[in-house]
Amino acid sequence: MHQYLLNPLSQLPGLTPQKAQALAGELALNTWADLLYFFPYRYENRQHFEPIAKASEGDTLQVKGTLIQKPELVGTGFNRRLVAIIQDSTATIELVWFKPQPWLEKKLIVGLEYVAYGKVARYGGKYSIAHPELDVFTQTYAPPKFLNPVYSLTEGLRKKKLDRKAIESVMQLLFKQVYPYLEENLPESIIDNYRMVSRKVALLNVHFPKSQELLEKAKFRIKFEELFFLQIGLLQTNYHQKEANPGLLCPKTDLVHEFYLNHLKFQLTGAQKRVLKEIHHDLNTGQQMNRLLQGDVGSGKTIVAFVAALMAISNGYQAALMAPTEILTEQHAVGLGELAALCGIPCAKLTGNTKKKERDQILASLKSGELKLIIGTHALLTDTVIFNNLALCIIDEQHRFGVAQRAKLWAKGRQCPPHVLVMTATPIPRTLAMTLYGDLDVSIIDELPPGRKPITTRHIYDTSRERIFDFMKKEIALGRQVYVVFPLIEESEKIDFENLQEGFQRISEAFPAEKYLTVMVHGKMPKEERDAQMQLFIEGKAQIMVATTVIEVGVNVPNASVMVIESAERFGLSQLHQLRGRVGRGADQSYCLLVTGVKLSKESFVRLETMERTTDGFEIADVDLRLRGPGDLAGTQQSGVVDLHLTDLSADAKIVELSRQAAKELIAADPKLELPEHLPMQHWMHTQKMRKQSEWRKIS
Ligand code: ADP
Ligand code: MG
Repeated sequence: MHQYLLNPLSQLPGLTPQKAQALAGELALNTWADLLYFFPYRYENRQHFEPIAKASEGDTLQVKGTLIQKPELVGTGFNRRLVAIIQDSTATIELVWFKPQPWLEKKLIVGLEYVAYGKVARYGGKYSIAHPELDVFTQTYAPPKFLNPVYSLTEGLRKKKLDRKAIESVMQLLFKQVYPYLEENLPESIIDNYRMVSRKVALLNVHFPKSQELLEKAKFRIKFEELFFLQIGLLQTNYHQKEANPGLLCPKTDLVHEFYLNHLKFQLTGAQKRVLKEIHHDLNTGQQMNRLLQGDVGSGKTIVAFVAALMAISNGYQAALMAPTEILTEQHAVGLGELAALCGIPCAKLTGNTKKKERDQILASLKSGELKLIIGTHALLTDTVIFNNLALCIIDEQHRFGVAQRAKLWAKGRQCPPHVLVMTATPIPRTLAMTLYGDLDVSIIDELPPGRKPITTRHIYDTSRERIFDFMKKEIALGRQVYVVFPLIEESEKIDFENLQEGFQRISEAFPAEKYLTVMVHGKMPKEERDAQMQLFIEGKAQIMVATTVIEVGVNVPNASVMVIESAERFGLSQLHQLRGRVGRGADQSYCLLVTGVKLSKESFVRLETMERTTDGFEIADVDLRLRGPGDLAGTQQSGVVDLHLTDLSADAKIVELSRQAAKELIAADPKLELPEHLPMQHWMHTQKMRKQSEWRKIS
C-alpha cells in the first residue's frame, strides 16, 4: 500500500519544522506524496566538460580550464566588473563578475584549474560567462552521478534558505524514506507492452537522472501514468453512468425515412451518415447516451441534430435543443422550424423574452406532450418547464454550460434522464478532447458538404486600405455582400468603440450612400435597431455590414463572400476561424482578408500564417493549443481535469493516444478493476482519492 505517502512533511526525518512550513506555505507541498510528485522543470548536465571552443551564445555549459592571468577589475560605474580568463586545450573564455565580492579575487589563483558552469554570452567578439558557478578542480574532483535537477522555487523559499541545493537535499531525505517502499501501480502487461521502466526507477530518475536516456524513460513512464489513470477515471465514470442510467429506447425510425425520402434536398455526407449511425446505436442500447459531436463550422451539424430529434419523435417522445445565446437560438428556431414544418412536427421556441401568454401555451403543450420539439436558451432549465416524455436533449456549444446546468437538464426526463448530444463547432484537438471529454463518447464530422470552395485568405497591412476597398467594390459589383468586423473587448471598450465608428465613417465615405447601403451592428445597440440593420443585410438590401463580433455566432447569409477582419492581430486563432466560417456558405468563391498594423508579434505572425495556410479547424485548433497551452482553451478552466504534473497536452499527443488506448482495452476487459493483476491499480487510485479528499478538506 502507498499509505505512507500521505504522511505530512513535518514527519519527514531530518526536515526541520520551519522548512516543512515554508514548503507548505510557498509551494502547497503538504505530504510526502506532494513532494515526491514535485518534479524538476529542467536539468543541468554537469557530468561532462565541454571544450571551450564549442561555446556559443546562449548555451549553458560546463567547462574546465586554467586561469592564465591575474583577474582584472575593468570598466566604471554599473559596468565595473572583475574579469578572469581561463583556457583549455581548445580556446579561452572570460569569466565575469559585476560587483565582485572581495573574497573572489583571493579564490582566483593563476595556474590553478577551475570548473565553471553558466550561460554563455558574447560581447565585442569575446565569449564570456557571467557569474559562473565556480569550483577548483582537484585530483579528488568527481563528476556528479546524476543530472542536476532544477526545481521551480519562489523568492519566499530562497529567503528561508531553501535554495536549489537545499531542495535537492530535502528530496534526498525523502528518497531515503520512500525509495525502498515504492510499489508498482501499473499492471505488468502494460509495462511490458510499452517497454516502460518501473515506477521506482521512473521516480528516482525524474528527480536524480543517472543519464539523459534514463531521464527520457522516466518522463515517458510518468506522463503515461498520469494520463492513464486520468483516462481510467474518465472511462469508469462513463461506464458507471451507463450502468446507472437507463435510456429510453428509440427503435422506430418512420419519421427519419419519411424525411429522407420527401424533404431532404441533398445527399448526407459520409461523415454525417456515420455519426447518425452512432447516435442511432446509442439510442437503442437501453442506456443513456452521452455523446459529443464535433464538427467544424459549416460541416452540417444542424441536419444531424434534426435527424437525431426525429429518431426520438418517431417513438412518441419529445426532443429539445438548447443554445447559449438568443441569436443562435433564433437561428436554430428558424432553420429547424422549417424542417419540422415540412415533416408536420409541432415545434416552438422558448427564451427569456418569450411573452407570458405564449410561454404559458408552450409550457402547457410541453407538459401534455403535444409539443414535440422545443428550441431554447437556458430558459429551458427553469423549474416551470416540465416535459411529458423528453428523450433527447441536444446542446449546442457545450463549453458555455456548466456542470450544474447539465444536472438540471438530466432531471427533466421523467422515467430516466434524457439522452444527451452535445454539439460543438469549436474544434478541440484530439488529445484535449480525449482528456476533457473522456467521459463522453465522441463523434466527429470531418468532412464538409461537397462543392464548397475553400476560402481564400490573405493577410494585408492596413496601409493598403485602398486595395481592400477596391476589392470589396469588385465583389459587390458581382452581386456579393461583405462583412467588415472590428474587435470590441471590454478592457479597451472605449477605444475599440471609437475605432468601430471611425471605420464605419471611412467605409461610408469610400462607399457613398447613392450607390451602396452600409449597415452597422454592435452589442450596445437596442435590440430592435440591431435586428432591423441585420435584416437589411440578410435580405440583400445592404451590401456591407460593419460589425463587432456579435456576428460570431449569428447570421447565415450564403450570398456574403467577403470577410474583412480589422485589427486581426487582436483576435485569437479560433475566433478568426469562427469568423471566417461566416463566409463560404454559398457556391461562390469566398475571401477572408486579415487586416493588421505593420508592427506584429511573432505569435501574431504564426496565427496569420496559419489562417492563410489552412481552413481545417482541427489543424487550427492544434496550433492554437501549441501557442496558448491547454489552460487557455475554451472549457478547460472549469473542467478541472487538466491536473497534470509533467504532461504537455500539445507536445505529448502521442502518449495521450497510447495511454487512452491502453486504458480503453483494460476497462473493456475489466471495468471494475476486479482482476487480481489490477489490484495495484486499485490501491493507487484509492491513495490518490485520499490525497484529493485531504486537499479538499484543507480548502473548504
Ligand atoms: P454547422 O455545422 O456549422 O452548424 P450547418 O448545419 O449550418 O453547419 O450547415 C451549413 C450549410 O450546409 C447549411 O446551409 C446546410 O443546409 C448545408 N448542408 C449540410 N449538410 C449538407 C450536405 N450533406 N450536402 C449539402 N449541403 C449540406
Ligand atoms: Mg450550426
